[in-house]
Amino acid sequence: MYIPFNKPVYLQEYDKNIKKVLLKKNHFSSLGYFSKKSESLLNDLLNVNYSILTKSCTSALEMCALLLNIKQGDEIIMPSYTFVSTANAFVMRGGVPVFVDIKENDLNIDLNQIEKKITKRTKAIVVVHYAGISCNIEKLKKITKKYNLFLIEDAAQAFLSKYKNKYLGSYGDLSTFSFHETKNIHCGEGGALIINNKKFIKRAKILRDKGTNRDQFQKKFVKKYSWVDFGSSYALPEINAGFLYYQLLNSKKITRDRVNIWKKYFLLFSTLPKLKNLNYSNEIPKCKINGHIFYFLSKNKNQRDQIIDYFKRNNIQTTFHYIPLHESRMKNYCKFSGNFKITKKVSNTLIRLPLYSGLKDKELNKIFFYLKKMSNLFF
Ligand SMILES: *Cc1c(COP(=O)(O)O)cnc(C)c1O
Repeated sequence: MYIPFNKPVYLQEYDKNIKKVLLKKNHFSSLGYFSKKSESLLNDLLNVNYSILTKSCTSALEMCALLLNIKQGDEIIMPSYTFVSTANAFVMRGGVPVFVDIKENDLNIDLNQIEKKITKRTKAIVVVHYAGISCNIEKLKKITKKYNLFLIEDAAQAFLSKYKNKYLGSYGDLSTFSFHETKNIHCGEGGALIINNKKFIKRAKILRDKGTNRDQFQKKFVKKYSWVDFGSSYALPEINAGFLYYQLLNSKKITRDRVNIWKKYFLLFSTLPKLKNLNYSNEIPKCKINGHIFYFLSKNKNQRDQIIDYFKRNNIQTTFHYIPLHESRMKNYCKFSGNFKITKKVSNTLIRLPLYSGLKDKELNKIFFYLKKMSNLFF
């Protein structure tokens, strides 16, 4: 019995419906029937007003950099403990990511270290909701207001997570989601840009459609469409949007399944003597989780590698997370000062456990068995 780290959800409903609809609509590229259905369902699910499907979260982040008119030397504050795309999107426009360390309790950007990094060139703060958990985003919003900065949520991991009863993705001027197969809800690869600041809507529609005003043309506002602004091919094809639509319809159930498994891990860790003393996924006040990740920290890097190997020998796949961006070659394009103590520690010691909708009790019990054994062998 091999237990992978992740098994992307596959819904049979997709097979039944998508072929019929696509053939009937005779439209397979982007901006069709399923795209519209998915976008309006996204708006309903997240209680937001405007969303755009994109080919990935990476594309949505690139759109953010373009919408903010990021120019050479503009600074964007973000954690170094994140996926490459968070920074890459801005670096491609000549922007300079300014890194901030994370906090140990939730692995999110340390709000107390943000203000001293703000300069005249700062344009925005990007918050990454690691494991689908938010920092005190209301406090962060106050900081962005005070200094007149844009707030961007990289909510790639945070679909259907909440802070204080409001969905993540509904706080930022712009927010991005990922529907990559490694995320809770997926369509192979896909993403979404949530636009909460209305002033970005018009240009976003042009940007995603190769810089044309085709949207205006389709609505019969203009007689011909042509190039009007920068843009690229960011819209999600209908085949993926159809796959995504059925995932979105089932997204609450898929999330519930994951949260239930998360809670079982949490119970095990909080009751077993040796595991109890470790640093592991926490319940954070005011946050409603989506069960994206359950992690724990080992003592050091060497032990981390040994534990991952130990699970592997027992047919269980576990994974670490993130070479910090300021330690990768990205550092040549970024600003960072301070010691990044927590970022370093977490990047060397974090282990993520298998978690997906469809993980059976029998499999979970096997993981628990080896977690108990591990706690006696390694701690
Ligand atoms: C997965 C992820 C991304 C990238 O998502 P894609 O859809 O693969 O482009 C960006 N940021 C974070 C924090 C992620 O976890």
